[in-house]
Amino acid sequence: MSAYVPQGVLRGQEPMSRHVSWRAGGLARACYIPKDSDDLADFVATRAASEHLHVVGLGSNLLVRDGGLDAIVVLTHGALRRLEVLTQRGQTPNQEWGLTPNHEDGLTLEVEAGVPAPKVARQAARLGAAGAEFLAGIPGTMGGALAMNAGCYGSETWDFVTSVVTLDRTGQLHLRTPADYEIGYRHVVIKGSDPTRGLTPTTPTTPTMAPPTPLEPSAEWFISARLTFPRGDSAAALQRIRELLARRVATQPLGEPNAGSVFRNPEGAYAAQLIEGCGLKGEREGGAEVSRKHANFIVNRGGATALDIETLIYRVQSRVLQDKGVALMTEVRIVGSNA
Ligand SMILES: Cc1cc2nc3c(=O)[nH]c(=O)nc-3n(C[C@H](O)[C@H](O)[C@H](O)COP(=O)(O)OP(=O)(O)OC[C@H]3O[C@@H](n4cnc5c(N)ncnc54)[C@H](O)[C@@H]3O)c2cc1C
Repeated sequence: MSAYVPQGVLRGQEPMSRHVSWRAGGLARACYIPKDSDDLADFVATRAASEHLHVVGLGSNLLVRDGGLDAIVVLTHGALRRLEVLTQRGQTPNQEWGLTPNHEDGLTLEVEAGVPAPKVARQAARLGAAGAEFLAGIPGTMGGALAMNAGCYGSETWDFVTSVVTLDRTGQLHLRTPADYEIGYRHVVIKGSDPTRGLTPTTPTTPTMAPPTPLEPSAEWFISARLTFPRGDSAAALQRIRELLARRVATQPLGEPNAGSVFRNPEGAYAAQLIEGCGLKGEREGGAEVSRKHANFIVNRGGATALDIETLIYRVQSRVLQDKGVALMTEVRIVGSNA
């Protein structure tokens, strides 16, 4: 058998600040941008089992500590970018969707992990489907949306998943259905698996600080998904996208680097209200600041280190615990080691 030659781009010492929306953090030991999903499977199969691999989409929910990540980061955005329109029955339509009679009940898209979620929202809306609009404001990839069960305005990614293709650490592909997963609020794990498997070890910043508890889906990565949306009205869906985006512009600090909601909403409460109730809006650590516009966002006001951001995260957690008696859990995932 001939030796595998990577078809994609392999680089050493990659600054992760280029690949996370906070624009902060350290270096990855290497990064790999696969040519396509077959190349990724071959790449994974040929890496020693002892090597850490970490899949990253658009880094919109990720903080890489300043000391970097001792892993090969696989970047899916721009690499796994196929988006195909299938009929309800899983066949490629011979006409533009909406013109053939046997898929009036819904639209099925097959989407690779590196496709931006907003692109899926727009494509589904243009094709006359309803329900995908919420994805328009989630600035990540579909792989990240699957891993996080990203959602907003009453909808979640897995509400629309009919099947996924995953890749395991040996390079094996699997076809899975939602029944294979435990799915909840920002939570997706294969049933019966250890949720920490495949997780790059994290270390608390100081021994007195509790480490955040990021949940990795498992040691399998999402390669693609089939998403089915009910039939709707194209003009109405496009209008709803415009409205949802306008709502975000009005309520979120989109002009400054951030990673969306830092904390999960605790049962029956909103993290933003709790944080604001503790007077923490505008609280600063170095270049990091609790947004004055949305208290559950931490923005990089310029030159923030990952440590600034993480220190602020812990300060918010301890203040909310002390003043409100609520232990906030991070929604953002924190990986790597300190400088
Ligand atoms: C302005 C702003 C608004 C936001 N609004 C929302 C919102 O309304 N709702 C919401 O849920 N989130 C929101 N987010 C957070 C974020 O956009 C979502 O969590 C998104 O789904 C992350 O996708 P990503 O590609 O950026 O993932 P990344 O940040 O790259 O990765 C996040 C996690 O998913 C894992 N991952 C990524 N790709 C894969 C894959 N292919 N297979 C397996 N694991 C993978 C990574 O290893 C990492 O652990 C917002 C973020 C920002 C910056």
